[in-house]
Amino acid sequence: MLEVDGIHTYYGSIHALRGVSLRIAAGEVVTLIGANGAGKTTTLMSISSVTPVREGRITFKGDDITRMSSERIVARGVTQVPEGRMIFPALTVEENLRMGAYLRKDRDGVRRDADMVYDLFPVLRERRRQHGGTLSGGEQQMLAIGRALMAQPRLLLLDEPSLGLAPIVVENIFEVIRQINRAGTTVLLVEQNAQMALSVAHRGYVLATGQVIMEGTSEELLNDPKVRAAYLGED
Ligand code: ATP
Repeated sequence: MLEVDGIHTYYGSIHALRGVSLRIAAGEVVTLIGANGAGKTTTLMSISSVTPVREGRITFKGDDITRMSSERIVARGVTQVPEGRMIFPALTVEENLRMGAYLRKDRDGVRRDADMVYDLFPVLRERRRQHGGTLSGGEQQMLAIGRALMAQPRLLLLDEPSLGLAPIVVENIFEVIRQINRAGTTVLLVEQNAQMALSVAHRGYVLATGQVIMEGTSEELLNDPKVRAAYLGED
């Protein structure tokens, strides 16, 4: 579904990605793990064309999307849930969800999908008339995921969904990620919480200083002594 082939991305003179390649098949959950500053967020930003790729190629379902606008990439079915959630604090939950569907014209479908989001996250239904800014961190994360689902993604890019959340909320969000995947959406998940990420993903890539240094099935990575020492907090 997605092929990232040797991409290089810069912030000014900072060479953030140094030839990153990865592949995701339809139906998979794939995770990118790695330390702070390894280039995980930049990889997602490059796929959605928020930061321009200087070298290399990204194809989605066979089409070159490397230099396509972010809006057209969303229209093709790739939607990102940014780190820090970035919901609209002054809009209600319902309005935030509608913003996720701004490219869609099928009103009935939009209503059905809002119901689907409320079924996934019942607390959002209870709070649908509340402003986004009044929600807890976990609820804002749910809203950010819900808003992305309103664009009917084929591929969902999730950046650090567990960041700053209590373990019980993280469990809940990861269970919903499993459900979203079972319902047919492919997922690329960026996480510092490697243990959680590998528990939900089929496969993973390890990034360090802008390069892929290891890849494998989640089981292989969970059992790898180097991964265990560096990313799973074990000696
Ligand atoms: P984190 O978990 O901290 O988000 P990450 O693995 O997602 O880490 P990136 O945010 O992709 O890493 O950062 C990769 C490199 O690019 C780092 O060296 C970082 O300092 C640099 N970088 C990221 N964003 C910017 C920016 N807006 N301007 C300049 N440098 C940046």
